[in-house]
Amino acid sequence: MDAYDVLVIGAGPSGSTAAKFAAKSGCRTLLIEKRAEIGVPIRCGEGIAKGWLDEIGVPPSPKFVLHEVDGARVWAPDGTSLVVDAARAGDEVGYTVDRALFDQYLAAEAARAGAEIRIKTSAVGILKEGDQVVGARVEHMGRTSDIRANVVIGADGFESQVGRWAGLATHLRTRDIEACLEYTMVDVDGDPRYDDFYLGSCAPGGYAWVFWKGEDVANVGLGVNLSRVRDRADARTYLDRFLAAHPDLGRGQILQEIAGAVSVSRPLERTVADGVMLVGDAARMIDPITGGGILNGCVAGKLAGEVAAEALLAADYGARFLERYEHRWKARLEERLYRNYLIKERLLAMDDGTINRIVHALAEVGLQHISAAEILEKLRTAHPELVTEFGFL
Ligand code: FAD
Repeated sequence: MDAYDVLVIGAGPSGSTAAKFAAKSGCRTLLIEKRAEIGVPIRCGEGIAKGWLDEIGVPPSPKFVLHEVDGARVWAPDGTSLVVDAARAGDEVGYTVDRALFDQYLAAEAARAGAEIRIKTSAVGILKEGDQVVGARVEHMGRTSDIRANVVIGADGFESQVGRWAGLATHLRTRDIEACLEYTMVDVDGDPRYDDFYLGSCAPGGYAWVFWKGEDVANVGLGVNLSRVRDRADARTYLDRFLAAHPDLGRGQILQEIAGAVSVSRPLERTVADGVMLVGDAARMIDPITGGGILNGCVAGKLAGEVAAEALLAADYGARFLERYEHRWKARLEERLYRNYLIKERLLAMDDGTINRIVHALAEVGLQHISAAEILEKLRTAHPELVTEFGFL
């Protein structure tokens, strides 16, 4: 039976980053990926914030960055817009990446740090001794085998099974899921200096986005909250309606269609068990307002890889030891994710008229260079009735 210090399941951004940091710290690390090609097919708007790449030790590179924007424009249902600079615009604004190349870049970094990678290798269960997870059962080209590992890192994305297998509560409520549909379109008109976010009934419980990949190429998509539509197929009706209402975009041709789901829940309360850590989408670390999860996953992946190495040094793979990971990712990410979850809950119940009023009020104040606290303070003075919605902030 193969044996490793660390087995990472899933070679998305979170898993590759975890594998890189575990391997870099001296762990014998295996990264497995069920698909035949890492990063493909893409299920992403491909937008990321600029600042965070530094934190995971990845310099922005023309190897994966396609386009850079100055910021975002937020559009109210009545057509009022608000400009937000890139630093304040959430996790998805700054660079547009080629997601397949980005994922492959991160996997290559893991390999260079010493991780072994096996593609077309699917985890089909975990191995346990009592409560302790000691590896996984995998399938490769129809052949099943067991891989032992002291630590298993579950980085298997939105549909994660590793958490469930390990007895962690990963269930999502309908209102915590957005069904997304996106077209990559060419020959579209617009202002590629800004990524655009359209709020309101054009995408019930979510938003529509235009993320630029070049001068006339953009990812145009939307997410609708499953509690606000009949079924996930409705996303297409809304996207086609959105394009009909925006002829500058609608005149373009579709190069690619992407469907997928994102969680807009609170992050999991419990992300470790004996021998296991969950990272990224598997741990529901997506930002509940923007749906951006790439960089949160990478940051958590880094922390999980480092804690795996510490566990190896201490020869302690129990949940109590691995809680170090939980404390660290919570210190870094939880407050913002939790606050944005509360905002998302309020937005779910908001009608177009209220969204219009909030965007008008924010447009009066101007969002270019001030902090969230200053914005709230100004709103409190000018429009106290709007701020009561966000009294918890
Ligand atoms: P994933 O990228 O999903 O990687 C999980 C990997 O695990 C996959 O490669 C999968 O094949 C593999 N895997 C699964 N099960 C197994 C198994 N049993 N054995 C082996 N391998 C397995 N985020 C942003 O930051 N910006 C955006 O613009 C953005 N746009 C989005 C648009 C859409 C339409 C969708 C659906 C999501 C978008 N997101 C965006 C979210 C983002 O894609 C995810 O947050 C991100 O991919 C999370 O990375 P991950 O590594 O945790 O999971």
